[in-house]
Amino acid sequence: MTDQYAVIGNPISHTKSPFIHGSFASTTAQDLVYTAIEGPLDGFAAAVDAFRAAGGQGMNITAPFKLDAFRYATELTERARRAGAVNAMKFVGERAYADNFDGVGLVRDITHNLGCALQGQRVLLLGAGGAARGALLPFLEQNPAQLVIANRTLATAQAMTEGTSATVCNYGDLAGQTFDIVVNATSASLRAELPPVPASVFAQARLAYELAYGKGLTPFLRLAHNAGVAQRADGVGMLAEQAAEAFAWWRGVRPDTAVVIAQLTIPLV
Ligand code: NDP
Repeated sequence: MTDQYAVIGNPISHTKSPFIHGSFASTTAQDLVYTAIEGPLDGFAAAVDAFRAAGGQGMNITAPFKLDAFRYATELTERARRAGAVNAMKFVGERAYADNFDGVGLVRDITHNLGCALQGQRVLLLGAGGAARGALLPFLEQNPAQLVIANRTLATAQAMTEGTSATVCNYGDLAGQTFDIVVNATSASLRAELPPVPASVFAQARLAYELAYGKGLTPFLRLAHNAGVAQRADGVGMLAEQAAEAFAWWRGVRPDTAVVIAQLTIPLV
């Protein structure tokens, strides 16, 4: 029987995951189908149980269910535990193994696809939500010279970085500081808003990275562009790379991401 995988979210009509995994399956000659499931807002566990009962072997989890998946899982990796969120599960008998590939996907896009090492760099991460939490450990594993997290709600950033070498600050404290790499992990761009980051942080930056994707030149990327940052990217590569990590975890073969990234890329203008 053809193996079954799915992404679950609500809403889900926008998802690119069936396209990405379908493309991976055909280039790696894996016999699988990958569908999208709109989970009821109050019925995540029942929807996952039904998918498993019908033979489902693995799932991606997107908004707003990453915390529900964290609670649903029977086995969690350290990075999923640290992120407090799950974006992929694998079902083996009664067990639901869970991981979070968002952060490793982001790191791989920056270091491998964009050719921008994090090691020894001064990195500024804006935001302390789910995506930022997922990025924290994978970023620190790259040994940046400095990792600073700026968030509107300082207490959230403090809780997230407790016991790590990352430092936290308010946006107002960024005046006069410069960074090599600036990453926008806030959700501001989804509403065409700009996090209150001073343009001066970009004075020596080589890369401005926007986690949101498919939005073209967001206010954050426009600010970076106007400040003269040479390299600017959105999160389409991160999306493809976290998918490739999940695919490799499920199937034991890592697909090449270049083709899907090229197909999904929207010019940043
Ligand atoms: P969350 O809702 O978990 O977190 C939102 C964060 O944004 C919080 O830190 C919040 O600050 C901050 N924020 C929201 N609005 C503003 C604003 N106007 N100014 C400053 N800060 C603001 O979101 P996620 O972490 O899940 O998602 C963040 C972004 O990452 C989204 O754009 C999402 O699309 C993208 N993403 C991309 C992925 C990819 O594969 N490319 C994967 C996952 C996410 P506060 O704590 O003060 O409220």
